[in-house]
Amino acid sequence: MAQQEDQFKKIVSHAKEYGFVFQSSEIYDGLAAVYDYGQMGVELKNNIKRYWWESMTLLHENIVGIDSAIFMHPTIWKASGHVDAFNDPLIDNRDSKKRYRADVLIEDEIAKFDDKINKEVAKAAKKFGDSFDEKLYRETNPRVLEHKEKREALHERFAKALNDNNLEDLRQIILDYGIVCPISGTKNWTDVRQFNLMFKTEMGSTSEGAMTVYLRPETAQGIFVNFLNVQKTGRMRIPFGIAQIGKAFRNEIVARQFIFRMREFEQMEMQFFVRPGDELNWFKQWKETRMKWHKALGLGDQKYRFHDHDKLAHYANAATDIEFEMPFGFKEVEGIHSRTNFDLSSHEKFSGKKIQYFDPELNQSYTPYVIETSIGLDRMFLSILASSFEEQALESGDTRTVLHLPAPLAPVKVAVMPLVRKDGLPEKAREIMNSLKFDYACHYDEKDSIGKRYRRQDAIGTPFCVTIDHQSLEDNTVTIRHRDSMQQERVAIDDLAKIIDSEVSLNKLLKSLA
Ligand code: ATP
Repeated sequence: MAQQEDQFKKIVSHAKEYGFVFQSSEIYDGLAAVYDYGQMGVELKNNIKRYWWESMTLLHENIVGIDSAIFMHPTIWKASGHVDAFNDPLIDNRDSKKRYRADVLIEDEIAKFDDKINKEVAKAAKKFGDSFDEKLYRETNPRVLEHKEKREALHERFAKALNDNNLEDLRQIILDYGIVCPISGTKNWTDVRQFNLMFKTEMGSTSEGAMTVYLRPETAQGIFVNFLNVQKTGRMRIPFGIAQIGKAFRNEIVARQFIFRMREFEQMEMQFFVRPGDELNWFKQWKETRMKWHKALGLGDQKYRFHDHDKLAHYANAATDIEFEMPFGFKEVEGIHSRTNFDLSSHEKFSGKKIQYFDPELNQSYTPYVIETSIGLDRMFLSILASSFEEQALESGDTRTVLHLPAPLAPVKVAVMPLVRKDGLPEKAREIMNSLKFDYACHYDEKDSIGKRYRRQDAIGTPFCVTIDHQSLEDNTVTIRHRDSMQQERVAIDDLAKIIDSEVSLNKLLKSLA
């Protein structure tokens, strides 16, 4: 565990050192859970967006995009349920003055039982060796069963308290299980209160005329309220989808783990409108399509898993998360939800406008059902960064820090380097760069030794380095170095574009999905 934490710290400082992610307002000591993307980060982020956007809008004739405003009419958030129900239960420790989510404290306590069970199993596995029957052991060992029983009892009580919105019992659970504040170590807890996660502000100039508006906590509602606009003007026929990328804001109580949980973040959401009754088929199909999109990046199939929800939101009839193995465990990156016709019906009710679709094939009108795919861009960024980061021991005894980023997403695709800063090599290098720069993000670098320059490119994940030497002037060849293998080969300048393209092409990645 400590090792993973250590690794995660290294990733965070690497992200800063190389211009991927900065703490917001750093010179003013920062603003909690808000981050800025630097010169490298913005490129990686834009490339992830392009990969998602094009996989939605180019690969599906029936998916179009929109870009709706962050501010929306406040009644939208009444209709969506966010004003009344977008809450987390919070609790403060009076001694440390630290604030926690009561549900998270209890979930951590539940996880402790799982840890205990796993420890028992690991101990027995070691003792019995090859003859160990794990399933049987888990089903029969008295100590395991005892932990399991306690875990279930806690889980059941917790789920009931959550479902009944019973804040007193949430607090009582914390007291009964002796949960202490990790900072002060005491049980001096306040009451549990509901805390709405939406940020509020005022719109309008006079105080009487000002209206309370919210910073949107999800981009989805901008799609729902534009359903008719897009359907009519785009002459869209069901099934069809609307995709959107944009900022969302949540006043998270406990913001932890770098860009995993932020107060301002970006979502990539697609709402797919289908006939009532078809939704579970489409849900299944979108699960597969989205998992394929993730795995096509080549970060390792074993790093993904589905986590089906057993407790469904009030509007959903099926829901799953795609989880990714972060340095701090498997965590949600994307949610796929079958949202029924809840949102469109609710907007119909609150707005008083009819929101229906006339299906020419069925010759009838209905409120479409919706499958949502909702992915956090920043979490996607983190999953890519974290799994690409490696401190690699080299045969020479040296180490290098390298980001094995999926080549089509790398901020810089090619670094162009004259071996020395004289003899006409810089000019030749510039010439090559000028021919490549229209298609590929290039970096020109002539400072320091070639070894140092390679290391700098490794650290930002550049897939190719092209070095121009004296021979280049004679026979129009250069050496090209591959980031992951560090292999170098001599190739004709005329072949460069083809070699580079074979790895960094987004088109090719998209074709692998089709
Ligand atoms: P969590 O349970 O982690 O709070 P959620 O289930 O509330 O997430 P959704 O409302 O389903 O999340 O939002 C869809 C996606 O938006 C999530 O899968 C996640 O990738 C991203 N997301 C949600 N909240 C945040 C946040 N505070 N910071 C960064 N990304 C977020």
